[in-house]
Amino acid sequence: MLLQRIKKNRNPRAGSKLSRLQQQQPRTKKINLMKPQPTNTPETREPTKNHQILLSSRPSGEPLQDNFKLAETEIPKPGPGQMLLRTIYLSLDPYMRGRMNAGQSYAPRVEIGEVMSGESVCQVIESNVPNYSPGDIVLAATGWQDFSLSNGEKTRKIDRSLGSISYALGVLGVPGFTAYTGLLNIGKPQPGETIVVAAASGAVGSVVGQLAKIKGCRVVGIAGGEQKCRFVKDELGFDACLDHRQPELSENLKAACPEGIDIYFENVGGPVFDAVLPLLNNFARIPVCGLIAHYNAAGLPPRPDHLPLLMRAILARRLTFRGFLYFDYASQFPDFVTDMKAWLSEGRIKYREDITDGLENAPRELIRLLKGENFGKKIIRVSPEPTATKRYIADESDELPVRKQSVGVLWRSEP
Ligand code: NDP
Repeated sequence: MLLQRIKKNRNPRAGSKLSRLQQQQPRTKKINLMKPQPTNTPETREPTKNHQILLSSRPSGEPLQDNFKLAETEIPKPGPGQMLLRTIYLSLDPYMRGRMNAGQSYAPRVEIGEVMSGESVCQVIESNVPNYSPGDIVLAATGWQDFSLSNGEKTRKIDRSLGSISYALGVLGVPGFTAYTGLLNIGKPQPGETIVVAAASGAVGSVVGQLAKIKGCRVVGIAGGEQKCRFVKDELGFDACLDHRQPELSENLKAACPEGIDIYFENVGGPVFDAVLPLLNNFARIPVCGLIAHYNAAGLPPRPDHLPLLMRAILARRLTFRGFLYFDYASQFPDFVTDMKAWLSEGRIKYREDITDGLENAPRELIRLLKGENFGKKIIRVSPEPTATKRYIADESDELPVRKQSVGVLWRSEP
């Protein structure tokens, strides 16, 4: 049905000079990211065109609306060995800020004029790829756009029995896997140990802390603001949670960790790390997962040089700092899925999503995420879920067993 509608609506002037030009030169327009965009919601949008968010310039410091452009193109036609994907959920993640920079990192940057990169959950609309059929729900690196072509590489089908299809971007995807591998391989939690988790209400931190509880640790979270701290403690079951915006963070952390810190799961850096460092015990382990407090930095901060202090602490207290990227442990993914599936169905891991409708709101939401204004795994709902899985994104009044069993908390935020 959807396929027929798209086919009918696609490229009404197929073959005309205008449509060829449109394919070569996407129409772009500026968007005001400070305002919620008009309600071009997934429910009302007719898929006659492809919308894309492009990188129009590189930010210096915090990204601005001028760094992005909204482009309109024709919906692409899959050739031999290709399939047409329609984006349902787009993941927004802190690493995307790094892709906007000119410098080289562990992954390629986005070039000016290119579609912003990102992972999404999609529906296969048409397929010339063996083993993929229209209607399949897949995870793919589509970037920030409504429609994309894939040859099936780096694409995997999503098992709908595991919960909402959006979980493939969060608790059952990269953030959940990052938490699992970083904590178990590097943190090596032992019963009775104290762990401190930064960005504790977020996609990675929330899983780290709950997993550490399962492993018998005393878990102290750090989050921004009273509401997030309450959620971390009351809903996720951490033993304590401290607000990093409070000037007394160091004193509060010391009081919350009377026996020092055995594991610090580093997601942010900055002043949070400064508060943690003096409390690290001998042989403490520090999985260095992310440094979001520095992602918008245009240069080094004008602060005293803490390097001698840090090196002395590493030496004298025999600290293990270990940076990691989730794909270092790719072979553990099947074990992770088995374990996480069990924990979710037993209600031992709760998971919060922060879903905003409309692709055009993605730039504003990335800017907000980098300032800590998301609350849970940040997702953009680009188009409606197909009927078969619609039940999983029902709102809080929904009474479906899957949500009740596996998701203690599921919120959506309005733009
Ligand atoms: P989150 O859902 O946690 O969102 C980011 C959160 O970071 C914000 O909500 C905010 O929470 C916190 N934050 C933002 N700015 C600051 C700041 N200046 N100081 C302190 N906290 C801040 O994101 P994810 O869970 O997806 O990612 C968490 C970290 O994990 C990131 O650093 C990310 O880059 C990293 N990561 C690393 C991977 C790897 O393979 N190594 C893979 C995936 C993610 P609050 O309001 O509580 O401060």
